Amino acid sequence: MIDEPSLRALLEESGALREGHFRLSSGLHSPAYVQCALLLQEPARARRLGGELARRLAEHRPESVLSPALGGVVIGHEVAAALGVPFRFTERQEGAMALRRGFALRPGERVAVVEDVVTTGKSTRECAAVATASGAEVVAIGSILDRSGGRHGFEAPYVALMALDLPAYDPAECPLCRAGRPIEKPGSRPG
Ligand SMILES: [Zn+2]
Repeated sequence: MIDEPSLRALLEESGALREGHFRLSSGLHSPAYVQCALLLQEPARARRLGGELARRLAEHRPESVLSPALGGVVIGHEVAAALGVPFRFTERQEGAMALRRGFALRPGERVAVVEDVVTTGKSTRECAAVATASGAEVVAIGSILDRSGGRHGFEAPYVALMALDLPAYDPAECPLCRAGRPIEKPGSRPG
């Protein structure tokens, strides 16, 4: 069982929670950034977090887990392992999320979409749309962290291990930009 205080402690001890001025992959600016790859770099910790998320998703009886690459892959795999179901991922092909590598979903298959962090929910929604387009049913969405402030627009039930209420600004309204603070683009994409 992982409650919010213990997850916050894990975020801090792994260095996953950073402060500064960041351009998030969503395009929004924020004084805080969460690098879940650091949280998940210890396999035993990733397994614990995946087990906890699986426990909370189990009531939706998913038959498989689908995650958007790259961010969702480690946690999605751990959730699938804990549930004992197949794991697959979507990835971008010419900008659009797609199932590649011979992955296929069965019509009617009960799919849980799993992410590391949900901010705008865009890549999660795109991943879910790939499942729906294959005829599968998205029965639940899960993530480690919810940074959406409730503005994710998910149609399926959504569970997160923790809601993290960190500010995120439209670049035009960012107080850090206004203060002239240099911006950093963290994460996997080249800045
Ligand atoms: Zn800014």
